[in-house]
Amino acid sequence: MSRSPDNNGIVYLVGAGPGDPDLVTLRAKYLLGNCDVVVYDSLIPYELVLTLPAQVAHHYVGKEAGRHSLPQDQINELLATLASQGKRVVRLKGGDPFVFGRGGEEARYLQERGIRYEVVPGITSGVAALSYAGIPCTDRQAASFVMFVTGHKAVDNAASGAPWEWIAGARGGTLVIYMGVSEIGVITGRLLEHGMPPHTPAAAVERGTFSTQRSVTTTVSNLAAEVERHGLKPPSLFVIGDVAKYHDTIQWFEKRPLFGVRVMVTRPADQAEPLYRELRELGAEVLAYPTIATEEDFRPEDWESLRSLPAGERWLVFTSENGVRYFLKQWFEVFGDIRGLKDYKIAAAGGGPVRALNAEHVEPDFLPSRTTTEALAAEMAEKLDLSNATVIRVRGNLGGDQMERTLESAGAKVISLHVHRTFYREWPPEARAKLFTYPPDVIVFTSGSSVKGLAENLDAGDLTRLAEGALVASIGPSTSRVIRSFGLNVGLESKKSSLPSLVEELVTRHASRPLKRST
Ligand code: SAH
Repeated sequence: MSRSPDNNGIVYLVGAGPGDPDLVTLRAKYLLGNCDVVVYDSLIPYELVLTLPAQVAHHYVGKEAGRHSLPQDQINELLATLASQGKRVVRLKGGDPFVFGRGGEEARYLQERGIRYEVVPGITSGVAALSYAGIPCTDRQAASFVMFVTGHKAVDNAASGAPWEWIAGARGGTLVIYMGVSEIGVITGRLLEHGMPPHTPAAAVERGTFSTQRSVTTTVSNLAAEVERHGLKPPSLFVIGDVAKYHDTIQWFEKRPLFGVRVMVTRPADQAEPLYRELRELGAEVLAYPTIATEEDFRPEDWESLRSLPAGERWLVFTSENGVRYFLKQWFEVFGDIRGLKDYKIAAAGGGPVRALNAEHVEPDFLPSRTTTEALAAEMAEKLDLSNATVIRVRGNLGGDQMERTLESAGAKVISLHVHRTFYREWPPEARAKLFTYPPDVIVFTSGSSVKGLAENLDAGDLTRLAEGALVASIGPSTSRVIRSFGLNVGLESKKSSLPSLVEELVTRHASRPLKRST
């Protein structure tokens, strides 16, 4: 896209919400899909970054093992530089950019340099994590005001520290403390010292809105000890005030059937949305790590050959969902009319392509008894008279030409019609690190190529380490074969070779034997 410098460059300071990727605004979602570059740190829903369109550039400025985050002045400079190159920059920040997010500093810096910017608010964790823990921050019976306070710098009580003495005396409201894990003992000590009643209800919420959320309720005098006892780590929030006691009554999030289970999904991002959604509705945390992506492969010469086919039966053969999707797109581009398809019979292998055809109101004429590509080729050769037939094998770049050869030896004229290409997707390095900090309990593979794509992203040792403690779930026999070829165990294979049944089987399994990592 050509843009003249200084003209279209803009920085969007965008709130990414507290963690659950569903809690971003429509505007954030729109901008992420329509920007040139995303600048982000670690407290954001990672799925938003891993599922960006391939052409969007990434700049990670957060903390990494052994490395501090980029200093604020360098982040400011980076934003200004990118925008002055004419780029549309999304500066993605956890929660709301203006709530303890330094968004104000970035906006002022850009303002001073005459760089265009806009602010997109997000749901701040101090409200959202409380909702997910069943704590309303205001309540007619319990709290008529809310204070958002930073726990940072509580120790030295410097100018930027909060006025704890004064806060201790403010009754009848809710105190929400951000960034306070390391200093919660000092903070509660100061509150008690200045007259806060020791039995005042208090709660802590760790990783709020993630499926791995943990919450604890207690009193202000026991809060620090409870945090220590449970080993709560950042990101955590503290709530002090009468509303904290509602946690024990208002329970919804922590009750979902797959609550606490982290499921890694390796499927291409543009086909994974329904699976992400279903898993999340069940309470699982989705680790969206697409290992492969597909793109269209349009070959005019392949299509040209369809214009002058010999007399006799014509078959179209589909072995993937993408095959159906890209074939139909190209069919309409080349021929422009759906009615031409009536000259073809249609064969399909597997639940994915059959569902994709059905979604277009097409009923296949031939289905093999088993769902594999090999079974389809073998059974077509065996059960159909192909001696006078032309078979159009719709395909991508992966997989051999075994199917073509089987059909040819049954006497068919076979044309390979390439409509898409699959490539491996490399994750940003900090994404890989994150995977081992919060490793999956379940890894879902829905195709052999997604297994190979994972092996491309990890070395053999890491692959084994990741898979060993987790349950490896496979969509069906051919995917399982590829999984085993990497020396991994298949813990669950979908009985019906379909995503809905795979998810159902995960829920059943979790109910009898919890799907938590063994290591
Ligand atoms: N701008 C962010 C806050 C950034 S400061 C917002 O509006 O939410 C970082 C602090 O936010 C963390 O130390 C923690 O106290 C809190 N926080 C952010 N995400 C959280 C989460 N999912 N659960 C609990 N606390 C969270």
